Amino acid sequence: MRILITNDDGIHAPGLAVLERIAKSLADEVVVVAPESDQSGVAHSLSLSDPLRLRKVSDNHFAVKGTPTDCIIMGVRKIMLDNPPDLILSGVNRGQNVAEDVTYSGTIAGAMEGTLLGFPSIALSQCYAGENSFWDCAEAHAAGLIEKIVARGFPPGVLVNLNFPACPPDEVQGVSLTRQGRREQELMKIEGRRDGRGNPYYWIAFERPSFVAGEGTDLEAVAQNRISVTPLQLDLTDEPGLAHFASVFG
Ligand code: MN
Repeated sequence: MRILITNDDGIHAPGLAVLERIAKSLADEVVVVAPESDQSGVAHSLSLSDPLRLRKVSDNHFAVKGTPTDCIIMGVRKIMLDNPPDLILSGVNRGQNVAEDVTYSGTIAGAMEGTLLGFPSIALSQCYAGENSFWDCAEAHAAGLIEKIVARGFPPGVLVNLNFPACPPDEVQGVSLTRQGRREQELMKIEGRRDGRGNPYYWIAFERPSFVAGEGTDLEAVAQNRISVTPLQLDLTDEPGLAHFASVFG
C-alpha cells in the first residue's frame, strides 16, 4: 500500500511526524507533501496567483509553499503521478476539527481534495488540553481505525473525519460514529492592539462560551473522551432547503 500524507500545521509540525509513523505502520511507502508554513484556517483554498514552490526535504518528503489543497494536487498530479496513492491522510492536526471547525479547516480540506481527486481520504485531528497535546492518543488508536475504515470502503464523494479526545490512550472510552455538531454560539471576536508606533491592528480571537453538545455529535464524543468518526460529504446541498424554496423557484 502507498499512502500520501499532508497537513495544515506545516512540514515541521509534530503531528505530521505522528501521522507519518501511523502511515508507516500501514504501508510500504509513505510520501509526505506538506505546506512550508502553518496553513491552519485556510480551508479548501488554492494558490492561483502565486507559483507553487516545491522543495524536496529528503526522500519522500516534500514541502510546498502553498495550502494543503495545493499539496494534495502536487502529490497526486506531480510527485506520485506514476505511482498514485491508495490512501490519503491529512493531519494529525493539533486541535480538534469538529462542528463549525470543519469548514475552516485546512486539515479537512486536504482530505476533501483527496476525495475530489478520487482517492479514499481521511482527516485526523488530536484534541489538546492546555500544554498537553496528547499525541500518544492518536498514535495509539489511529492505525487500527484506518484499517477498519479502508476495509469497509468509502461511499462516493465521502471522506472521513477522525477526532481523538484529549486524554491518554488508555483512557479512551470507545469509538463513536457521529454527525457534525454545532456550537450554536458566536465564537469569533476581534481583538484590537497597538503596534510600536501606536497604530491599531487586529487579531481574530476565539471566545470559549459553554454550549450544549448535541446528542450523537462529534462535540459530544470528544467531550466524553471517545474517538469521533464522522463521514462528511462534499455535496453541501441542503435537502430541506430545496423543499423550502420550491414554492418560489420550483
Ligand atoms: Mn492546523
